[in-house]
Amino acid sequence: MSPPTVWNFSAGPAMLPQSVLEEAAAEMLDWRGCGMSVMEMSHRGPEFTQIIETAEADLRGLLAIPDDYRVLFMQGGGVAENAIVPLNLMRGFTRAAFVDTGIWAGKTIREFGKYGNVHVAATASQACELDGRVYQPYAYIPPESAWDVPAEAAYLHICLNETIGGVAFAEPPARDFGVPLVADVSSTILSRPLDVSRFGLLYGGAQKNIGPAGLTLVIVHDSLLDRALDVCPSAFNYRTVADNGSMYNTPPTYAIYIAGLVFQWLKRQGGLTAIRALNQAKARLLYDTLDASDFYANPIVPAHRSTMNVPFRLRDESLNELFLTRAQQRGLLQLKGHKSVGGMRASIYNAMPLAGVQALVEHLCDFEKDFG
Ligand code: PMP
Repeated sequence: MSPPTVWNFSAGPAMLPQSVLEEAAAEMLDWRGCGMSVMEMSHRGPEFTQIIETAEADLRGLLAIPDDYRVLFMQGGGVAENAIVPLNLMRGFTRAAFVDTGIWAGKTIREFGKYGNVHVAATASQACELDGRVYQPYAYIPPESAWDVPAEAAYLHICLNETIGGVAFAEPPARDFGVPLVADVSSTILSRPLDVSRFGLLYGGAQKNIGPAGLTLVIVHDSLLDRALDVCPSAFNYRTVADNGSMYNTPPTYAIYIAGLVFQWLKRQGGLTAIRALNQAKARLLYDTLDASDFYANPIVPAHRSTMNVPFRLRDESLNELFLTRAQQRGLLQLKGHKSVGGMRASIYNAMPLAGVQALVEHLCDFEKDFG
């Protein structure tokens, strides 16, 4: 296997494992002797049935998903789920609660306003003092002890990893708030073990840790399948999708196939415990490098730093373009921060090997030597 010539730090669509791309390339024209490409198969035929059933079984194994949860392969992405979730869960309710941790949680909250009354259970919108240091708004997760969740809320929504802000829950909330917990896991799913039973519903776009954009993964507890509003489109109704094995309409078949290859790759890596150890080692190396220098800065409370998305700034922002050009010359791609916040961001999802982070760290050190 030839190593990639570039390291891609995109926040998503993001790097996929090299071996998965190679397998897909080898099978592109003829999937396992059937004479068809996966893209050409009927989603109801025996070949694709095998692909989707294997993918679901592997995912269930990786995340130890209990039997009373359904796995749905849908379309629409994380943004569409901001509408699809309330359409599915608001029957008989007027409001839901949200923890406002940043840009993605904020989008969820704004979209929900079309379907019910927003109750902000906690927000990180104010600067906060922790251990004698002042942290800027959205640089921390609000302490769970102060969350205010009304008993009559339809659900409590959190975003487990804020992809733009680089702030993440170290663990799911420990408290049981008495209402179903719903989480956007777009940029953290499969990066570590997760106790699915703590949640009523998990959703995420595939294009970070799962596979190609176009696939949305939903994991939902049986008890939440019959709370949809009458206006919920059938193709997005969790009960309808679940009862039809994600085949009520044509699912994103090729994306599901690639996701299945990624799940098998994850199993070969040793599953989520092993991938967590690798992800922690990558993140530690990068954060330690940033922290050891006053040329670079990461603004997030250390305990709430994302292991997937690492935003950072150069002290002298007039060097930003040069930093990116030099990075590109070394094959380090897509390090520019999100347009809404500027600076830099290195996304280091599962498929990014330690060697990629080491190459970035070398660039950070060399650039500081030259310009610090
Ligand atoms: N939630 C989070 C946490 C995300 O990172 C993203 C995409 N970056 C989204 C939602 C939106 O996903 P999509 O663009 O697939 O709708």
